[in-house]
Amino acid sequence: MSRVALVSGITGQDGSYLSEFLLDKGYTVHGIKRRSSSFNTERIDHVDVHPRSRDARLFLHYSDLSDPASLTALIRDIQPDEIYNLGAQSHVRVSFDIPGYTADVTGVGALRMLEAARAADVGCRFYQASSSEMFGSSPPPQREETPFHPRSPYACAKVYAFWSAVNYRESWDMFCVNGILFNHESPRRGENFVTRKITRAVARIEAGIQDKLYLGNLDAVRDWGYAPEYVEAMWLALQQDHPDDYVIATGEGHTVREFVEAAFGHVGLDWRQYVATDPAYLRPAEVDALIGDYTKARRALGWAPKTLFSDLVRVMVDADRQLLEDERMGRLVRVDR
Ligand code: NDP
Ligand code: GDP
Repeated sequence: MSRVALVSGITGQDGSYLSEFLLDKGYTVHGIKRRSSSFNTERIDHVDVHPRSRDARLFLHYSDLSDPASLTALIRDIQPDEIYNLGAQSHVRVSFDIPGYTADVTGVGALRMLEAARAADVGCRFYQASSSEMFGSSPPPQREETPFHPRSPYACAKVYAFWSAVNYRESWDMFCVNGILFNHESPRRGENFVTRKITRAVARIEAGIQDKLYLGNLDAVRDWGYAPEYVEAMWLALQQDHPDDYVIATGEGHTVREFVEAAFGHVGLDWRQYVATDPAYLRPAEVDALIGDYTKARRALGWAPKTLFSDLVRVMVDADRQLLEDERMGRLVRVDR
């Protein structure tokens, strides 16, 4: 019998890669999608087989992390072996504008999912998408023992979700795991995160349809990895004998300025001619430097990153050049590259 996974946030960057990964492993995958007035399944449309087809192993269900009854009913119905809670209001800057909503979906939403799993009593394993943002102003390198000092409503909500997962592990003996993932990017990264904003702008500037790129803090340091490799770590964390928490990172830090320089450099442009700063993109409180120590994950999970900074920049810039070319030629745009 095929193993069954339930993925919240399946329409996001990680959810789409994780679904592909699990389907490749033979899983049946159920995903939660939100009601939206416009299409929001673009990242998984290429793997979505019609649910009535005999080959269908991917199923999407309307639900929401703000609706506990629907979560419980879904888990009872599906009887998953594994739950991956990736759903969140995931943008740090936006969380300062909608802090209550972020706390509700990103923080309490995780609790609702945990409680739904407990109530459904199906004995499943639970992965919580925790974040390096929880470390906030604790200096790098950050590892599992590093104290949390969150610097945004998003990070506060993720700390709440982290401890809720630990609490369900300790209180109810549930197999709950936190993956503390450092920033991870890809051609499917949301367009208002800094890496994708940069790579998309580079492609457009090169094509002559954009003249300036406005950014905020260029001095921030991040540890950027490649998303398809990080979803494997999520799965590995759920396959162990005992539940635990793991930092997933590359161990390398780079400034936003270095990312800009590498991305423009890849197409032979001098970034200084195109990039300007706009205080609108600054945050009320910034996280200056995140660099992860993934020693524990390497030892316990046998996981290590393969794609490092310069390859990541190249992959993302080239994908955005190709995307622009496809759009200009009116070709069918697929997200599965
Ligand atoms: P995305 O922003 O790409 O995806 C977020 C997903 O959550 C989307 O599918 C979104 O649906 C869904 N969602 C939002 N609100 C709700 C809700 N109320 N109910 C149900 N689903 C909801 O994030 P990523 O894929 O990049 O990240 C996955 C998870 O990992 C997130 O929890 C994120 O906070 C966390 N994380 C990400 C890191 C990164 O660098 N990418 C680093 C560390 C942690 P819709 O498509 O409809 O908007
Ligand atoms: P985060 O680490 O989850 O907040 O991921 P982001 O990609 O949103 O931001 C990474 C870093 O880039 C943060 O320190 C931001 O302050 C910085 N940054 C600088 N300019 C921008 C911008 O225009 N947009 C975003 N999203 N971040 C920016």
